[in-house]
Amino acid sequence: MHEFSIAMSIIEIAEAEAKKAKATSIIELVLDVGTMAGIEFFALDAAMEMAVKNTLLETAKVNVNKIQARARCTKCGSVFDIDQVYDECPKCKSLYHELLSGKELKIKSLVVDVDD
Ligand SMILES: [Zn+2]
Repeated sequence: MHEFSIAMSIIEIAEAEAKKAKATSIIELVLDVGTMAGIEFFALDAAMEMAVKNTLLETAKVNVNKIQARARCTKCGSVFDIDQVYDECPKCKSLYHELLSGKELKIKSLVVDVDD
């Protein structure tokens, strides 16, 4: 499962950041994931749930920000929601566009607990 390895690397990055801040646990993790990032959202949720066991994220609240992919038509300039690379412009039916958003896959924020 592709999402499981993604979950593992997200956790790895989050743990490295938390350790840098000398945190004892991670309270909240917010992810930005685009609808065209090639991720199945339900699979990512399930994978995160499994992958956090025995990590600093075990009790963390994981929020996934779903970012709708948007594209701008290179012919007529209209901006539209896109679900697949081959979607055509709803206005002029052109297949040429540039993607404005939707490929994101990143940690947006991390709330940690520091024991002092
Ligand atoms: Zn167009």
